[in-house]
Amino acid sequence: MRKVAVVKANSYDTQIVEQAMTELLTHLGGMSKYIKPGERVLVKPNMLEGVDKGLSVTTHPEVVRAVIRLVKSAGGIPVVGDSPGLGNTLKVAEKCGILKVCLEENTTVVPFEVPTELSLPNGMILKKISVAKVYMEVDKVISLAKMKTHSFMGVTGAVKNLFGFFVGPDKAQFHLRMKKRSDFAHMLIDLYGAIKPVLSIVDGIVGMEGAGPRNGTPINSGLLLAGSCGFSVDLAMAKCMGFEAEKMPVAQAAIAAKLSQTLAGLEIVGNGKDIVHHFTEPKNFDRLEGRLPSWLVDFSQNQFTAKPWIEKNCIACGRCAQHCPPKVIRIENNRAVIDYRECIRCYCCQELCPVNAVSLKDGTLLKTAKKLRRK
Ligand code: SF4
Ligand code: SF4
Repeated sequence: MRKVAVVKANSYDTQIVEQAMTELLTHLGGMSKYIKPGERVLVKPNMLEGVDKGLSVTTHPEVVRAVIRLVKSAGGIPVVGDSPGLGNTLKVAEKCGILKVCLEENTTVVPFEVPTELSLPNGMILKKISVAKVYMEVDKVISLAKMKTHSFMGVTGAVKNLFGFFVGPDKAQFHLRMKKRSDFAHMLIDLYGAIKPVLSIVDGIVGMEGAGPRNGTPINSGLLLAGSCGFSVDLAMAKCMGFEAEKMPVAQAAIAAKLSQTLAGLEIVGNGKDIVHHFTEPKNFDRLEGRLPSWLVDFSQNQFTAKPWIEKNCIACGRCAQHCPPKVIRIENNRAVIDYRECIRCYCCQELCPVNAVSLKDGTLLKTAKKLRRK
């Protein structure tokens, strides 16, 4: 039975987080069970974008600090790194407060800039993969994720956090190649299998609900989660968020492939194990997936998915146009305009918009399907 620890932590006060993190790891046998003296350990927080830590977009710096200290106490040598969705790693780390904590803890921040190729003979959908070369230079990886909703994948936790191992523009290519959520989920499962983090930890002290992972609303959830299996940690996380955890695309695919337990098969321990919040879902069709025949979803993907909609507060910065994988956004009359015929519903535009000017609107068929489901 795979174990997931869930403990309460009601603030980002340094001492409170450190105590809670120690308690969390104690449930799992202590950090020294995973990290041996002298090992170089890559701690991979969620550094999606350089914004204030209060927005809950990135892993909180105090959680990063607590993990750094525990790795050191086990004799490991931590380094912290990511390839943000937007911007330079060091600038992002500076803006979200992670750089300051790393400097205080005498820990290096390593940008993921150079890729290296790994072969994946047993991959479900990928047989080779290009990930940040720093992966080859460390002994262990810890995925240090944030508890957030995700418009495309339902939730983003320990497994999706590894998407940052793809360097820069490679990320957009995966959106183009894996347009269906199930394909994207299989790709993430392959990535997880390649990186094999020794521990997966989730910062859910303040999570994000609604239009995650960038433009949602912070929600006090008071939890830290951890386990040696990222799929299990994400299942427990989605349960704590109040979602149908096994219906999340990655969980669904991992359970089907027998790479993950079901929720009932997990041993969840800790003083936060029974806490369930009611996060607002992202506006997408995840909960319809699995209820509709897959041929119908394939056939009418655009009708059954919410479409991105540019709101009046668009400032025409062009960021969405620059990062839209199929390049179907243009700036016209000081506003972003989307060509829906080629839109693949990846929601990168919503994820990256700096002023939350991209909302998601249900199409007619999706509205009808939701009404039918409510009856
Ligand atoms: S990123 Fe947002 S503000 Fe910038 S052009 Fe796109 S919709 Fe407008
Ligand atoms: S318009 Fe938005 S949702 Fe559509 S393909 Fe571009 S980034 Fe993805």
